[in-house]
Amino acid sequence: MSAMALELKSLGVSFGGFKAVDGVSLQVAEGELRVLLGANGAGKTTLMDLVSGKTRSSEGRVELYGADVTNWPEYRVARAGIGRKFQIPSVFRELSVRQNLCVAATREPSIVRNLRWGFDRQDGTRVDEILALTGLESVQQRQAADLSHGHTQWLELGLLIAQRPKVILLDEPTAGMTQAETRKTAQILKALRGRHTILVVEHDMAFVRDIAERITVLHLGRVLAEGSVAEIERDPRVRQAYLGSH
Ligand code: ATP
Repeated sequence: MSAMALELKSLGVSFGGFKAVDGVSLQVAEGELRVLLGANGAGKTTLMDLVSGKTRSSEGRVELYGADVTNWPEYRVARAGIGRKFQIPSVFRELSVRQNLCVAATREPSIVRNLRWGFDRQDGTRVDEILALTGLESVQQRQAADLSHGHTQWLELGLLIAQRPKVILLDEPTAGMTQAETRKTAQILKALRGRHTILVVEHDMAFVRDIAERITVLHLGRVLAEGSVAEIERDPRVRQAYLGSH
């Protein structure tokens, strides 16, 4: 049995009496790639906000490897090891892809020294690994400002990985991507599976089928179902609540 990396226990929040997330319990094992599926308004983003400390919960707990991180401020949650990738780019546009990753992979005190004197070998090896994992090797010398949307998103993911998070939260990683970019993103996530623990919000069913992972379906703020792609697709409650419209 692998360790439980992220555990949500009856997590919930109300906005003016409306329960956007209502008693959600979820366990993500170390190395798992878990998909959070749900129609618009199901509570997916709010759930990610609760886990990352962006929104304070009104009930329940968030545990990272058994440690209670419920309602910690966002920066402390991030420092504890829950890394979140937003859709808004945060790359250093004037640096190359490789330089961006070097900055992210370097532990804080040595950043200035490294920028001036070059990066040590340990960081370099790690950066090479991340370039390979995220399929960015061929564009590593390119300036971040000149990247396509897909490459920018993969660089963002690389930057997150470089910071060594214990759990990665991804909000709709394929948003705005072409079909080819979406397929590549699926490949990248499959390559990360086992090495990183990932909770990914997605509503592109073709993409979810492609990464073929365990799925949790949210509906009206609650967990409606959990299972494999096949189980989810034949679940009548899911079909009625979500898949029927796709
Ligand atoms: P989408 O796929 O459209 O992003 P979602 O599953 O991420 O949907 P949420 O954005 O989490 O859904 O929203 C869940 C519900 O909570 C929605 O009805 C939304 O209007 C409501 N909601 C979210 N944030 C707030 C807020 N700050 N104040 C009031 N209501 C909110």
